[in-house]
Amino acid sequence: MDILKVENLTKIYGKGENSFKALDNVSFSVKRGQFVAIVGPSGSGKSTLLHLIGGVDRPDGGHVYVDSNDVYARNDTQLAIFRRREVGLIYQFYNLIPVLNVVENITLPVLMDGRKVDEERLEELLTVLHLKGRENHLPNQLSGGQQQRVSIGRALMNDPALLLADEPTGNLDSANSHEIMELLKLSNKKYNQTLVVITHDENIALQADRIIEISDGRITRDEVIR
Ligand code: ADP
Ligand code: ADP
Repeated sequence: MDILKVENLTKIYGKGENSFKALDNVSFSVKRGQFVAIVGPSGSGKSTLLHLIGGVDRPDGGHVYVDSNDVYARNDTQLAIFRRREVGLIYQFYNLIPVLNVVENITLPVLMDGRKVDEERLEELLTVLHLKGRENHLPNQLSGGQQQRVSIGRALMNDPALLLADEPTGNLDSANSHEIMELLKLSNKKYNQTLVVITHDENIALQADRIIEISDGRITRDEVIR
């Protein structure tokens, strides 16, 4: 089954003479559990695509279906719920909330959703992510690798169908990059989560099941490599 279907997706920034087509009629489908690497030059539209898959922005044309549901048929309130429950977003610079500690950052999306924290799941994540003993640390008391592991915890807490990562290792040294990719792949395999990763790192792209290349807002290559 296709967990994700992107259909004729178009995104235009700005208006009139100053408008810019960042995504131009992009279509593809992704099977549940697939690990897809998105590659391509800087400014080609990769982040725009990831944000549109994750319900972070609205497209100017086309559709995104997650689990056969039309993401942008939702109103803004429903879209916010979709973002918290069905996708986990991971960024290059972590996007943690500086005044919240490790546990608070990880559990925030659950609490914002008005639900109870699954303490067992939280414990499991803290262990897998090697964050035991750091529960009360603030982000600025953590190394870059630790901060990225917190952001993965936050993304995984709701057990989302889609895990979307924008250059997750772009700010990390090779040992930490390796660890982060192993954690993402573990989650991908163990929970059959679909993983979409934007990367400039060829070694990471080659770990994926499939590579999609974007240039000037269009797909220029789409290859299943395993
Ligand atoms: P990539 O992730 O491949 O580097 P982006 O999706 O971030 O590319 O950007 C694609 C293009 O759209 C770039 O030319 C960028 O400058 C432009 N762009 C991105 N976000 C905005 C925005 N909010 N307003 C105007 N232009 C934007
Ligand atoms: P790394 O192991 O990634 O190289 P660092 O050398 O930055 O990490 O940090 C080593 C340890 O010191 C980390 O486990 C981190 O939790 C702790 N640490 C780093 N910066 C601070 C800080 N400002 N306050 C408290 N503890 C910190």
